[in-house]
Amino acid sequence: MKQAWIPFASRPVPRYTSYPTAADFTPQVAETEAGIWASQTASDKPISVYIHVPFCEKLCFYCGCATSVPNGYTRIAAYLEILHREIDLWARALGAHDGMAHLHFGGGSPNALSAEDFKDLVAHASRAFGLRPGAEIAVEIDPRGLTPDFIHAMAASGANRVSFGVQTLSATVQQAVGRIQPKVLLSEGIARLHEAGIGAINMDLMYGLPHQTVTDVEEAAHFAAEMGAARISLFGYAHVPWFAKHQAAIDEDALPGLEARFEQAEAGARTLELAGYQAIGLDHFARADDSLTQA
Ligand code: SF4
Repeated sequence: MKQAWIPFASRPVPRYTSYPTAADFTPQVAETEAGIWASQTASDKPISVYIHVPFCEKLCFYCGCATSVPNGYTRIAAYLEILHREIDLWARALGAHDGMAHLHFGGGSPNALSAEDFKDLVAHASRAFGLRPGAEIAVEIDPRGLTPDFIHAMAASGANRVSFGVQTLSATVQQAVGRIQPKVLLSEGIARLHEAGIGAINMDLMYGLPHQTVTDVEEAAHFAAEMGAARISLFGYAHVPWFAKHQAAIDEDALPGLEARFEQAEAGARTLELAGYQAIGLDHFARADDSLTQA
C-alpha cells in the first residue's frame, strides 16, 4: 500500500454517485431555491430523471441507502400515489428542455414495485418529461426478488440497462451481511434479462465487508467480467452504525483493517483492468465499448 495514501484512505467521504451528494440535501435547500434551479434548464439540452424506490424485502446489514422494509404493499401504494403527484410537480417546475435522455430507477429495490406499477411509473414519467428516442432507462435490481413478471414489465417499458447488486459471492461474507444469494441465482437472472432483450448489465461489487478477503474480491470481479457486465462499481463498505442503525448487526471484529481494505480495492481494480475494463473515477469500471468509457 502506498503509505502516502493512508491519511486519505482513512477519511470518510461522501460517495459521489450524484452531485450534489445526498448529504447536501438538507432543509437549507428550500422549495424556492429548488424551484429556481429547476426553472433554469436549457431548452436545447436533454434532462435526466432519477426516481427513488425506498423499499426492500429485507435489509442487508451493510446498506447505507435510504430504504426500509414495507411489510406489505400498503406503504408502497401510498408512496406511489405521492410519487405520481411529484412527477407532475417537477414537470411543471422545469423550464424548457429537450426531453428526457435518462430515466433511472434506484433504491432501495425498484423491483419491490409490482410489474404493473412499474410500467405505470415509466409511462407517466415519459409523458410528463417527454422521453427522447434512444433514451436510457436504467433500473437497479435486487436479484433475489427478480420475477419473470418484472423482467417482462421492464422490457415492455423500454428499460435497456439493469444494475445488479452482486456485492460478494463468498457464502461466509454473505452470511455475515445478511444477504444470501447463490451465484446461480445471479447467472440465471442475467440470462433471463438477456432473453428479454435487456443487454446492458451493470454490477455492484463491494470490498471491506466482514470476513472478506482479497481472493473473495477477485472472485467477484472475475464473475462480473465473465458475465459480460458493461459497467462495474467496486465500493468500499462504510461502517457508520451511528447513522445506519442496522449496521450494528455487523461484527466489527471481522471487518478488514485499513491496509487489508486497500489491498482488496487494488486487487479488484487489477482484476477488472486485466479483464479489459477501464477505471473511471474513484470506483467505477466500464468496458471499452460502453458509452460511459466513450464519454
Ligand atoms: S437490497 Fe440493496 S438497497 Fe436494499 S437493503 Fe440490500 S443493499 Fe440496501
